[in-house]
Amino acid sequence: MSVQYQDNLDLDAKQRYSVKLKLIGLDSCPYKVPADTWINDPKQWPASEYPDVYHYLIKHPRIYSAEAMENYRSLEAHRFFWSGWVQTVFHMKTNSGHYVLKAIVKPSWIDTEKPHHPWVALKKSGPVIAAHCDCMAGLEEACSHIGALLFKIEAAVRLGYASSTCTDRPCEWNACFVKKKIEPKKISEIKFYKTATKEALKKSKKKMKKITEPATAEEQNRFLESLASLDKPCVGLSAFAKYSGLFVSHGSEPT
Ligand SMILES: [Zn+2]
Repeated sequence: MSVQYQDNLDLDAKQRYSVKLKLIGLDSCPYKVPADTWINDPKQWPASEYPDVYHYLIKHPRIYSAEAMENYRSLEAHRFFWSGWVQTVFHMKTNSGHYVLKAIVKPSWIDTEKPHHPWVALKKSGPVIAAHCDCMAGLEEACSHIGALLFKIEAAVRLGYASSTCTDRPCEWNACFVKKKIEPKKISEIKFYKTATKEALKKSKKKMKKITEPATAEEQNRFLESLASLDKPCVGLSAFAKYSGLFVSHGSEPT
């Protein structure tokens, strides 16, 4: 991200950007703030919850409609977050006590595509004050990258990673939520099933094999005996020499 971002904006956009920065108590553009000022510690993040995100996304600048938010999991912004395209989130505190959180958002799994750099300004209690992104729609605060960043912050709060009492590893979650780099492989080298699944499949095959094994001579005899003991023996028994006598008529010959 260019530190010259603000300087390269046209006059109108530059003025609006300056107003935005003043609103959140920043003297300079977040893209100019030195790297060592930014902190990686979700436990210090504002308590932004879903209503805060929802309110921002549908009210101002109305990135999404209320109808679209009813199915928010299908939104591009949520997909970016859920797919792990929002990288580690860093934050800093402004002079007015607000929080600015930033992250790199990859547009897809293709490493060569240009990433975007959204930032959001939040009150400590959670509401969103302002947001920005270096993509085309980001100037108007209306892009999926901003939405994706907000969804990640909301998830951290909801999962307890933003709590000061969190005993888990919030920094690890913040960083490791990023999907691992996917390396291409030959189909023959791809493992489609987990080892546990393959073992379970082998066991079930063994069970099936056992069921289809032919009956032993003893089992066959027991079965034939049970048929022969019926009041009306099964006609199939007549095919067995031992039981054929059951089917010989001892009455008078038919006329
Ligand atoms: Zn954007």
